[in-house]
Amino acid sequence: LTAPDGSTRPTIFAEMSALAARYEAANLGQGFPDADGPEWIRELAVEAIRGGANQYPPGRGILPLRTAIAEHQRSRYGIDLDPETEVLVTAGATEALAASILALAGPGDEVVTLEPFYDSHAACIAMAGAEHVTVPLAPTADGFRLDPEALRAAVGPRTRLILVNTPHNPTGTVLSAEELRLIAEAAVEVDAVVVTDEVYEHLTFDGLSHTPLATLPGMAERTLTISSAGKTFSLTGWKIGWVSGPAALIEAVIAIKQFLTYSGGAPFQPAVARALTEGRADVDELRDSLARRRDLLVAGLREAGFEVNVPGGTYFVCADATPFLTSEMPDGAAFARALPELAGVACVPLSAFCAEGSATARALAPWVRFTFVKDEATLRTAVERLHALR
Ligand code: PMP
Ligand code: GLN
Repeated sequence: LTAPDGSTRPTIFAEMSALAARYEAANLGQGFPDADGPEWIRELAVEAIRGGANQYPPGRGILPLRTAIAEHQRSRYGIDLDPETEVLVTAGATEALAASILALAGPGDEVVTLEPFYDSHAACIAMAGAEHVTVPLAPTADGFRLDPEALRAAVGPRTRLILVNTPHNPTGTVLSAEELRLIAEAAVEVDAVVVTDEVYEHLTFDGLSHTPLATLPGMAERTLTISSAGKTFSLTGWKIGWVSGPAALIEAVIAIKQFLTYSGGAPFQPAVARALTEGRADVDELRDSLARRRDLLVAGLREAGFEVNVPGGTYFVCADATPFLTSEMPDGAAFARALPELAGVACVPLSAFCAEGSATARALAPWVRFTFVKDEATLRTAVERLHALR
C-alpha cells in the first residue's frame, strides 16, 4: 500500500511526534497548541451535545455557521458571500483542500504551488493525477520571498489551479501586497482558478496583516478561500474548516466533499459559529501571546547558534542548522531525526516540505522548522537543551 506520491511513511509530523514521545523531547515539531482554546467555546460544544446536536448536520454545514463565516469575511475583509450558496463547511481545512483540488484539477492539468509547500497540498495534487509545478520561496535578508521570474516561468496555458498559502507554513512568510498582485495577475492572464489556504489568517505579527487574494481585482470570481477554526481558536482536533467562493466552484467542491466525509462535527459547528461572531478578543489575545513566544524562541535559537528567519506569521520559525551539521548528520533531515535523542527537542526538516530532489530541497537542506505554539516553559526548556548541544 502506498500513498499517491509513492511513499509508505507516516507524515513527517506524525513521525517527529512519535520520536518526541519516545525520547520525552520538547515537541517543537508538529504544529498544534499545547493549551486548548477558550473554555467558553468548548462549553458551547458540550451544551450542543447535551442539546442533541449528535446526528449528521447538513452537507453544506449548519446555516448559522455558514452565516457566521460569511459575516466574518465581510467584516474582516469586505468580501460579500451568500451563505446559502457560496460557503461550505468541511472537516478541517484539510478536507476543503482535498475536495477543492480533486474537484478542479485532473490528469493533464498543472497545479502551481509555492515551494516549500504544506504536505497535504502535494498529496492532493498527486491524488488528483495532476502535475505539481512549484515556485520557490527563497531565503533573503527580508525573509523567504517569492521569485517573480520563477512565478512567470511556472504559470502557463496548462495551469489549471494556483494554490497559495499565506501566512505560509513552514516559512512564516506573510505574502506582501506586491507578491499577491503578481500571483493575481498571473492567474487572470492564464484564466486559472486560485485556491488559497489561509488557516493562519489571524496569526500575524509586527503589525503585518493578512490580505485574502479574493479581494484583489479580478479574483473574487476565480478564488476559493479556505480557512479553519483549528488555528484561530486553538481547537485543531475539532476539524471544523470551510471554503468560500463563487457558487459554481462551491458546487464542484460539494460534489467531491459529499463522498469524502459527507458532513461532520455536528456539536462543534454551533460552537464555532458563536466563536467567529463573539471571539474576537480571544483571537487578539492568542496573536499577542504567540508574538511573545515567537520572540522568545527566535532569541533562544540565535543564542544557541542557529541562523534564524523571523516569521511574520503562523506557528513556525525556520532556522538554518548548518553550524550543527556533521558528516554523520549532514542535513536538516538527519539533524531533525537525531535531535530528540541527542538533545531532547523535536523539530521538522524543511526538506519534508519540498519536492524530492528539487533545487529548493537542495537549497533548504540544512534548514529545520520549530513551532512556538507551546507554553513558555516548554520553549525555555527546548532552548536550554539546544544551547547545551554545541
Ligand atoms: N493548511 C496548512 C498550511 C496547515 O498548516 C494546516 C494544519 N496545520 C492545515 C492546512 C490543516 O488544517 P486543519 O487542521 O483545519 O485541517
Ligand atoms: N499542520 C501541522 C504542522 O504543520 C500538522 C498537522 C498534521 O499533523 N497533519 O505541523
